[in-house]
Amino acid sequence: MSELLIYYNGEFVPKSQATTSIYDHGFLYGDGVFEGIRAYNGRVFKLREHVDRLYDSAKAIALNIPMTKEEMEEAILETLRKNNLKDAYIRPIVSRGVGDLGLDPRKCPKPNVYIISQEWGAMYGDLYEVGLTGVTVAVRRNSADALSPNIKSLNYLNNILAKIEANEKGGDEAIFFDGNGYLSEGSGDNIFIIKNGKVYTPPTINNLKGITRATAIELLKDMDIEVSVENLGLFDLYTADEIFVTGTAAEAAPLVKVDGRDIGDGKPGPITKKMIAAFEDITQNSGTPIYS
Ligand code: PMP
Repeated sequence: MSELLIYYNGEFVPKSQATTSIYDHGFLYGDGVFEGIRAYNGRVFKLREHVDRLYDSAKAIALNIPMTKEEMEEAILETLRKNNLKDAYIRPIVSRGVGDLGLDPRKCPKPNVYIISQEWGAMYGDLYEVGLTGVTVAVRRNSADALSPNIKSLNYLNNILAKIEANEKGGDEAIFFDGNGYLSEGSGDNIFIIKNGKVYTPPTINNLKGITRATAIELLKDMDIEVSVENLGLFDLYTADEIFVTGTAAEAAPLVKVDGRDIGDGKPGPITKKMIAAFEDITQNSGTPIYS
């Protein structure tokens, strides 16, 4: 198999040569933004929504992406074409660029744009059938008034701390609360709970405005399942009939145990299964064509 090609500021560079400066503030300070996108069956799922969020993240950190949204979309599609990919995970990254050792972003004249694309199957393997184990973590989600979880920034240390804690406690995924005790999200996905046939998910002040989350809400409503966006606590989590998480990499996955407690009967529930089936259907049958 030939080497993957990485988009780097308008050029395509073989993976082994796709290196960047150690003075890039994306590396020195996590100063930059990124996206995670999937393509299914020759089409990119929710391409415009992901590009919009990339530009919103950049705007929130006062970073000017040096290309239009249309150019970014085309660069993403071209990266997939160059690598002959039909089913793929795509990672556009925009960093502040090369500066000096000080923090000041004004010393970084040119942002760097990178796009990685590669095959990446089901993130949780066969756990989609049996369900994941969740653990609530002591580390709190970044507060919106410090570093908003709405910004998909290159600084994922808060999420990594949660993942480390979940790993140590033997869970597949971490569940974050915020500093006020409200349910937030997973380390890399949004969270939904189901109680008495109704679905609940937290508002997005304390989590990423997930594109899969928005899709899930639409799909549930289309199936005439009621969805309420409201603040939730630890009690709601422990006493849920079903829980599932949503994310581009994770897709839609059931959570069947939290902190040692079975959720419902400890198996993926009926609404979760319906939702996963509907998600598989929409991802296989919609999106921006890569080759046309
Ligand atoms: N929360 C976090 C912290 C994430 O990293 C992700 C993955 N992008 C999500 C939620 C889910 O967002 P999306 O459905 O847009 O991938």
